[in-house]
Amino acid sequence: MFTDTAHVDPPAAAPSTAAPTDHRDLRSDEFWRGIPAYARVSAEEFRTHTFQNRHSVTNPRQLRETLADLVPASFYEDLEAGVKNAPMALRISPYLLALIDWSAPHTDPIRTQFLPLRAQQQPDHPMLRYDSLNEREDSPVPGLTHRYRDKALFLPQDSCPVYCRFCTRSYAVGGDTDAVEKLKLTANFARWEQAFAYIAGQPDLEDIVISGGDSYNLSAAHLQLIGERLLQMPNIRRIRYATKGLCVQPQKILSDHAWTDALTGVVELGRRLHKDVVVHTHFNHPNEITSITADAMNVLTERGIHVRCQTVLQRTVNDDPAVMTQLVRRLGHVNVHPYYVYVHDMVPGVEDLRTSLATAQHLEKHVRGATAGFNTPAFVLDTPGGGGKRDVHSPEHYDRATGISVFESPSVKPGKKFLYFDPIASLDETARWRWTQPAERRAMIDEALGATS
Ligand SMILES: *Cc1c(COP(=O)(O)O)cnc(C)c1O
Ligand code: SF4
Repeated sequence: MFTDTAHVDPPAAAPSTAAPTDHRDLRSDEFWRGIPAYARVSAEEFRTHTFQNRHSVTNPRQLRETLADLVPASFYEDLEAGVKNAPMALRISPYLLALIDWSAPHTDPIRTQFLPLRAQQQPDHPMLRYDSLNEREDSPVPGLTHRYRDKALFLPQDSCPVYCRFCTRSYAVGGDTDAVEKLKLTANFARWEQAFAYIAGQPDLEDIVISGGDSYNLSAAHLQLIGERLLQMPNIRRIRYATKGLCVQPQKILSDHAWTDALTGVVELGRRLHKDVVVHTHFNHPNEITSITADAMNVLTERGIHVRCQTVLQRTVNDDPAVMTQLVRRLGHVNVHPYYVYVHDMVPGVEDLRTSLATAQHLEKHVRGATAGFNTPAFVLDTPGGGGKRDVHSPEHYDRATGISVFESPSVKPGKKFLYFDPIASLDETARWRWTQPAERRAMIDEALGATS
């Protein structure tokens, strides 16, 4: 039974600092000058990928050196403790760092996504685990997940230009952390050849997502090699390069000519072969989109390169209808097509960021109709256990009290049921207590499965 679909999760301790202005008002000031370490950096220098790479912050010490006394000592201590407890390594670009409102870092939506604070971390839901999507189980070759009949996910390498706290591939992406030792998927020709051989030998496969890790961290030569190899296979009709780069470091499109030209070359080869080559990217908040993003997108638009966005729904970052609507409109404004909004995966260490399924349903209702239908993202939940993506409005059963929803996925795993669990903090006191008791947990799950049989 659907219950209380108007419900939204309780607000964070303090309200989000996100104050939507007009979606067309993109920041074009020299916003980085407010960061002590970047105070004398010119616009020309800030617009290069080399500056962004060289000055990326990868540990708390570098953050102190960059921000100096912009934040109190207590913030750095909270961060250091948060990093020790986090599944993802730390990495953030000067661009994103400078877009954080450092007068209110505890509630800033960009800070929330990349810099963990111990005081905000919450205990994991008892049903959480690494690789909740079972990507490794559906992998015929390490780093190649083949779950759907005609499409597969290829992970050529495991690094990114930024590390998101909430990464669904925290089992592999980024260096080891105190909390997690990772599956290693380095750029390795022998492994790639195994993946190519598998793909070429599967006549049903038509569509390859080149993800990771992040396509920004492929060299121009490797990006080209992978694209050409895939496009030459007669069965392959579509490829997508996945990169968070446009959000993290739009400068690369403007200054790394070899990389941007390699991407353009693959897109042009695809066009000659009548095949589809697009870029998939990942923005979560309107503050991530500036006039530098627009400049980068203009280059891609002039070259006829299509970009789609996959957003991750996160509590306090974008779980507000006004913020999500503005994100969708702003993406459209810079020619990025909003494709998906994902309900947060059940990955450990980021329980403060998950929302209930009800929140996703509520947001979808508000966003649909706010702009062109083709720029309206599908709100989906990638079911734990490998059932694939499902429309948030399509559970077979949803008990808002226990937070359990049950999905079926006839096109991917017929006959099976897949469960999602709302975060404990979104439940009432009785349900919270029930989740602490193993026998009660079993009873709640059995009851949900029973309701759909
Ligand atoms: C998301 C995903 C894809 C691509 O799915 P689309 O819905 O076409 O974007 C392919 N393979 C796996 C394993 C995925 O998780
Ligand atoms: S950019 Fe993507 S793959 Fe990399 S850490 Fe972020 S969510 Fe994970």
